Amino acid sequence: TVVTSGATGAQATFGERAARRDEVERKVKDLLDRMTLEEKLGQVQQLPWSWDLNPGSGDTKEVEEAARSGRLGSVLSIFGAEATNELQRLAVEESRLGVPLLFGLDVIHGFWTNFPIPLAQAASFDPEVARRDAQVSAKEARSNGVHWAFSPMMDVTHEPRWGRIAESNGEDPYLTAQLAAAKVKGYQGSGYGEKETLAACAKHFVAYGAPEGGRDYNTVDVSESRLRNLYLPPFKAALEAGAETVMASFNTVSGVPAHGNTHTLTDILKDEWDFDGFVVSDWTGVQELIAHGFAGDGADAARLALNAGVDMEMTSTNVAEHGKKLVRSGKVSEHRLDDAVARILRLKFTLGLFDDPYVDEDKAITRPTAAAREAAREAGARSMVLLKNEDGALPLKKSVNSLAVVGPFADSGDLLGTWVVPASAEKFPAVKVLDAVKRAVPDAKVTYARGVDPQGEDTGGIADAVAAAKAADVTVVVVGEPPALSGEAAVRSDISLPGAQEKLIEAIAATGRPFVVVLVNGRPLTIGDWLAKAPAVLEAWHPGTEAGNAIADVLFGTVNPGGKLPVSFPRAVGQIPIHYNHESTGRPYDPDNKFTSKYLDLPPDPQFAFGHGLSYTTFTIGAPELSRSSVPVGALRKGDTVQVAVSVRNTGRRAGDEVVQLYLRDVTASLTQPVRRLRGFRRVTLDAGASTTVRFQLGADDLGFWTNDSRGEFLVEEGEFEVYVGNSSQAKAKKKLTVT
Ligand code: BGC
Repeated sequence: TVVTSGATGAQATFGERAARRDEVERKVKDLLDRMTLEEKLGQVQQLPWSWDLNPGSGDTKEVEEAARSGRLGSVLSIFGAEATNELQRLAVEESRLGVPLLFGLDVIHGFWTNFPIPLAQAASFDPEVARRDAQVSAKEARSNGVHWAFSPMMDVTHEPRWGRIAESNGEDPYLTAQLAAAKVKGYQGSGYGEKETLAACAKHFVAYGAPEGGRDYNTVDVSESRLRNLYLPPFKAALEAGAETVMASFNTVSGVPAHGNTHTLTDILKDEWDFDGFVVSDWTGVQELIAHGFAGDGADAARLALNAGVDMEMTSTNVAEHGKKLVRSGKVSEHRLDDAVARILRLKFTLGLFDDPYVDEDKAITRPTAAAREAAREAGARSMVLLKNEDGALPLKKSVNSLAVVGPFADSGDLLGTWVVPASAEKFPAVKVLDAVKRAVPDAKVTYARGVDPQGEDTGGIADAVAAAKAADVTVVVVGEPPALSGEAAVRSDISLPGAQEKLIEAIAATGRPFVVVLVNGRPLTIGDWLAKAPAVLEAWHPGTEAGNAIADVLFGTVNPGGKLPVSFPRAVGQIPIHYNHESTGRPYDPDNKFTSKYLDLPPDPQFAFGHGLSYTTFTIGAPELSRSSVPVGALRKGDTVQVAVSVRNTGRRAGDEVVQLYLRDVTASLTQPVRRLRGFRRVTLDAGASTTVRFQLGADDLGFWTNDSRGEFLVEEGEFEVYVGNSSQAKAKKKLTVT
């Protein structure tokens, strides 16, 4: 269960964990027995501290008073050793029972040291990247009084218009699950006692990544089978990895707002999955039940949310205001309230807050350390995807004599990405590409021209960029989206390069001089006609604090890129949603059933498929070798597996990384299945000429699927499967597997 896995350390024996859990349960019960109804309602209230996020919506005096009087359980958006200690002292020393506060923060891909955005991390196809981000973030944030990260976000999405795709791990539930689990382990570490860890929050529960039209917070209508096969698996994986908390999502799920959804919050999360952590609402999510037209007023909203399974209310105060009446009238049972409070107290005990509620002000980390920067730089380079590379345009030669660096992001520190702690952006902007390029080739003449603004239509600066390109051996064009165009509520209907940036690329192309394009963006982009003219395109995403260095590492070949797309890049917005894991149709466009149907005015496939990514070397991947060609369904149910061996060889002239990917197709099933589903991947590093064998296991989890039964039915059916392996979702090599 959650308490045992997150709390007590990898080294703790089963017996030790059980004893520790029993001790926590005893303490929770003892404290709960001594609490008044008001004090219980205090624990389920979370208030924001920093008004940066919501200017003018309150003041810290209210928060301090609530802490002092035991009317507060948690505070969000507070950090800093002194600030947290000071507020904590009010709760611990002045409130009647001295219950410590829990401090939460949006630590999404960093605290002081920002790692690449989560979408980029997914492109690394390397869970270790996510784990290290979380580990570094936890160390920095915890030393500054933060206990709890509102992360990882694990909303699977097929919506590139939706700005929160930047916070996601893309379109695939399996990849997302691997990254989410790794991130939870990174935050929660092997024990809270060391004070270098944070409690994780699996969010947003659930199906938030499927808003109609890509508009944030919009309606989601989803079948039970899709809910369970596509959106729930990452949450299950995160909880299995020990995630202590879950955040409800702003959307409706098939007509019922997630904050009032008993089916998802209680039936599935708490009952079926046995989750004993707590559910926090999203920002004013309880209050929003009224705007949804689901609750009539605040009392109604509090009742519906509590009874559905929300345990803590963020920012709005409906439960605190109406809780007493609701409990006294029996509309909410005291048992339900006690359960919510117990879940919250459980985490406070597990974190050790009752023993030591403060942090050491002398030990607060105040800047990115060299080691943290190194980790972020490595993660940044590992996350980059080489989309196109004609005639070895990349890597650039370090012996180059002259180089022009142009574009609105060439000399910009605004490459951290969405959701960074505001103070980190002010104090530690990203390393600029221009600076890093100059350092990488100190003997070359490096010129710079901005060319265009990232968003404006003014083309007046293009002439300077063209002149710089004409005078240089090679030009690096750095274009993309400002981070503010992705993230929460940052929805775009046009996902091409904003402003006049395409014109800048066209003008550079027209010089006839060698050039390469570096993209910095928070979502898939539609890439216009310029793609055909650009010899090389490197997708760098928003790489974080070490952005420039990581980009230069890849441009000059210090790092050979090995990332793969975690999401399809559509040719045009009109193709959305377009994703590799769509279901089979009755009239497929191609014999392989890879594409649903065609357009009159566009090819049926995306511009770049899920899993695509090139390298400076080449690889061959052999056909999959199966340990058996058929397996009885009974054996699978008992835990038997099929081994799949795949050989991979570096056939080029330099060392590099390849991501070997395994996809499954269930040819005939009682529910229509995706044409392919990723069920395994491994990123391997191979020297020139070297080869290795990658091994996967396929079991019931991989071969089965969830039906539409709302009580949760997982079927492993007899029939034919196709096992594909290769270096993208378009992999061709396959073997048949029969489940008998
Ligand atoms: C977002 C959450 C975030 C919360 C607290 C909300 O608007 O949806 O992801 O954790 O704010 O800042």
